Amino acid sequence: MDFIEAKTLLRKVKFEKKKWFGIDYIMNLYKGCNHGCIYCDSRSKRYFIQDFDKVRGKFGVEAILSKELRRYKRGIIDIGAMSDTYNPLEKRYCLTRNALEIIRDYDFGVSITTKSNLIERDADILEAIGKRYAVNIKFSITSADDKMASVIEPNVVPTSERLKAMKRLSEKGIFVGVLITPILPFLTDDINNIKSIVQLAHEYGAKFVYTKYGMTMSDGQREYYLKKLDDNFKGISRKYQYFYGKQYSCLSRNYNVLQEAFVDECNKYGLLYKMDDIIGSNKICSLYEQLSLFDV
Ligand code: SF4
Repeated sequence: MDFIEAKTLLRKVKFEKKKWFGIDYIMNLYKGCNHGCIYCDSRSKRYFIQDFDKVRGKFGVEAILSKELRRYKRGIIDIGAMSDTYNPLEKRYCLTRNALEIIRDYDFGVSITTKSNLIERDADILEAIGKRYAVNIKFSITSADDKMASVIEPNVVPTSERLKAMKRLSEKGIFVGVLITPILPFLTDDINNIKSIVQLAHEYGAKFVYTKYGMTMSDGQREYYLKKLDDNFKGISRKYQYFYGKQYSCLSRNYNVLQEAFVDECNKYGLLYKMDDIIGSNKICSLYEQLSLFDV
């Protein structure tokens, strides 16, 4: 793996972004991602990531992060907004694991979105961070069907393996849930898919499920996505061009129906689905744990 220089790692989020799972900082330990999701927004030209499918690690993560955490106010760090931090190279290079150890030692919280079951390796540290402050782990699942997942997310474990990993983290008391984003028009926006994901989330220990009804498309990403549609799903790209043209936000055309089914299913299984409730529940857990430390 190639390494690139990094002067800083943490970026403070603007106030309104704190609404995203309560995060205070964003940090990427890798540049690029090789999971190959055909819809990936990070592939867009506006992020200026050359050779996106090639993963490069950041050099000197431990020293930079320790220095920043000494100075920064305690908060929740989101790892891997532009790149799944559990890419296959993490198994060998452990940038994420080392960063988590530092986050634990400085008493910060962490929020991670992943499609990989490699996260299970770090359950011990996540458990420790969750006991002291906040942890929320979002498993990104777009299709309940492994076959569909293997086409739209070709280089990462299928949905069934992600769910098993989620269950094992949940059994350790780690706050886990499912992120159903994006929902791909004409491919994954059918009601049975959404209902199945919510049901599976419940069966596999999720505390929450969060979704948005559509996808984004911008220059660079759009061309790549439409080409992959042509390679794998004949006739679908024409529908995109007809209904969405060059639009950035491509909202599922049946989103009202999906929303109703999604809410019904979440209520049926007692899953949190509103962002404020998810954030509140995560912080309440942390506060409870902190208070219980003083009871001993
Ligand atoms: S895992 Fe995330 S960052 Fe990586 S290719 Fe898929 S959507 Fe993009």
